[in-house]
Amino acid sequence: MNASFHPTPRTLMGPGPSDVHPRVLGAMGKATIGHLDPEFIALMEDIKELLRYCFHTTNSLTLPLSAPGSAAMEAAFANLLEPGDKVIVCINGVFGMRMAENVRRMGGELVTVEDEWGTPVDAAKLQDALTQHPDAKIVAFVHAETSTGVCSDAKTLCAMAAQAGCLSIVDSVTGLAGVELLVDEWAADVTYSGTQKCLSAPPGISLITFSDKAAARVQSRNTPVQSWFLDLSLLMAYWQGEGARTYHHTAPVNAMYGLHEALLMVKEEGIENAWQRHRDMHGLLAEGVRSLGLDFVVNAECRLPQLNLVRCPEGLDEAAVRRRLLEEYNLEIGAGLGAFAGKVWRIGLMGYSARRENVELCISALRSCI
Ligand SMILES: *Cc1c(COP(=O)(O)O)cnc(C)c1O
Repeated sequence: MNASFHPTPRTLMGPGPSDVHPRVLGAMGKATIGHLDPEFIALMEDIKELLRYCFHTTNSLTLPLSAPGSAAMEAAFANLLEPGDKVIVCINGVFGMRMAENVRRMGGELVTVEDEWGTPVDAAKLQDALTQHPDAKIVAFVHAETSTGVCSDAKTLCAMAAQAGCLSIVDSVTGLAGVELLVDEWAADVTYSGTQKCLSAPPGISLITFSDKAAARVQSRNTPVQSWFLDLSLLMAYWQGEGARTYHHTAPVNAMYGLHEALLMVKEEGIENAWQRHRDMHGLLAEGVRSLGLDFVVNAECRLPQLNLVRCPEGLDEAAVRRRLLEEYNLEIGAGLGAFAGKVWRIGLMGYSARRENVELCISALRSCI
């Protein structure tokens, strides 16, 4: 190619990244300043405050990580888990499986609680596992399973973990700003998210918050955190504290401008209003899906409004439909994963993508392609 790159603007209605608001893109084009510049440090403070607003928490240990959601998942396990610790991971989709893989690779003793893809984590099964494994130290689960479009009852699961003396790890990469997430009220210990789903900032940054209990666990470790880059105590020397902040890594300065603008937009809208907008746009999509004679895979009571698995009619080539949507309508929707591969579409209504014009485009484009 050897020429400037000019991507065709698309409408992004897959599992992420979602449409990025022009305000966020504009913020990212501002002058790059030093990552220890006093103005940048003031921006870092505002980012942390806005993150606490979005997570519904007062946790002091709340910060962005300079890497995508997958890094936040690793950071959660790397900081809490010590080799030999027993960890219960609830698996009801791809991201639960990745959590389990993190535990294996970090030398944890893995116990899994498995539920069928397309259904939520079964609290009764978790209770059984906690009873059978009183020595478990951590319970981990995915709040909003992007691979299946299912929302699990994070409040109940966190309460069960706490009751059994375990710390909870909650993956809300797709949940944050799209569905209710109340970190303090639910007493979730480590909760993480990403920029590219319902916050509608470009991919590449993640967000993480630690309760005081989780922070104390990190401080009382017997072994060093196995990852230097994700070691919270080192990161905090850069992200926290009065006066001198020390170099840890060079923060992606312009990406942080984008994150800040995206968080600010959630605050301006009001996070409860953002949740409601996702529900409203899901309702509109549901009308359209019904009008096309199509069905959702997930039952209404545990369906994520921001990530919709729609069954592809028998005999139709789902990949060909997605290709036509992209080529003829510049519209991206997602494919099914695992057991759902070839059988469903994943239609995302995340953040700035959760708009009436997007829903109407998606339904009319699908109507002409099926
Ligand atoms: C997208 C996603 C991740 C990973 O985030 P990346 O930014 O792709 O690394 C983790 N968990 C869930 C539930 C996700 O949807």
